[in-house]
Amino acid sequence: MAEIRETVILGSGCAGLTAALYTARAGLKPLVLEGHEPGGQLSITTLVENFPGWPEGIQGPELIANMKKQAARFGAEYQHAHLDAVEVGAHPIKLRTSAGELHTRTLIVASGARARWLGLPSEQALIGHGVSSCATCDGFFFRDKDIAVVGGGDSAMEEAIFLTRFASKVTLLHRRDAFRASKIMLERAIAHPKIELRTNTVVDEVLGVDEREVKGLRLRDVKSGEKEELKVSGMFLGIGHEPNTKMFHGQIDLDEEGYIKTTNNVFTTRKGVIVPGVYACGDVQDRRYRQAITAAGSGCMAALEAEKYLEEHGH
Ligand code: NAP
Repeated sequence: MAEIRETVILGSGCAGLTAALYTARAGLKPLVLEGHEPGGQLSITTLVENFPGWPEGIQGPELIANMKKQAARFGAEYQHAHLDAVEVGAHPIKLRTSAGELHTRTLIVASGARARWLGLPSEQALIGHGVSSCATCDGFFFRDKDIAVVGGGDSAMEEAIFLTRFASKVTLLHRRDAFRASKIMLERAIAHPKIELRTNTVVDEVLGVDEREVKGLRLRDVKSGEKEELKVSGMFLGIGHEPNTKMFHGQIDLDEEGYIKTTNNVFTTRKGVIVPGVYACGDVQDRRYRQAITAAGSGCMAALEAEKYLEEHGH
């Protein structure tokens, strides 16, 4: 039989690593399954200016590396593995992972969310050939090229601003004329000489499928219906995220968009009843705030609840 862990944490972003730090300091030797995107979204972001304690800001990957090191100092363990299936009703909870079977008394789900795509066949065909959802990963390939960024939130603004380091011009395409982005990010994008904002505009097709590289975009003005071709070599998506909860369908309650429903901040439920020992934190259960600091805060809460649960059950 597999070894029984006190705590397994799914995900190694800000929420998971904070939960790891707290449970490690409580002597629970947490095992963190790092998931498909180790370090989570912070690991593919640039400067984080709104995490308290860093007056000059800190690079996302550095912040994550620090958190990882900090939790490891108190005994957190890390495994390059992801979850394939889970049985939350079992005691102990059973996990089937890419690295084998695991049993645990408590489970902290911090599996986060991943980038959303437009869903156009031409877009899907050109992922990795000029279509990307990660400016920090792929921006380098677009030196002196014209590119487009899709979206009207902070991610899109951040990507557009970051991409001006490489691109000759960045056209930011947004489907409405009101923006979700924070005022400061929007103002930076508007003021940037290399960025042009186009509102009420959607992408109908990415051109270049036959050539296997992005040649342009077929755009449509949603107000006038007018169509136009924009010549670009790349398209970056900044249109939000989807929660990583596929393996929890039928196991715990999810909302209509697949985010984990929680009660009292971090408790998970199944058919409305609290699932003992299973907690959720970070972006996988939060579509309202979605900040590094709120993810860290909920990771702390989940860890404290896991500790309390283990103590109450004599472990
Ligand atoms: P978001 O705020 O949900 O914005 C998503 C944007 O994409 C919206 O403008 C939305 O348009 C658009 N969109 C969604 N689906 C689309 C589709 N199918 N076609 C075209 N456009 C589509 O997501 P986010 O920008 O990723 O930000 C998420 C959270 O992280 C926010 O709380 C944000 O503040 C935070 N964040 C902060 C920073 C920072 O402070 N440095 C950086 C990145 C993210 P509509 O507006 O029309 O719905």
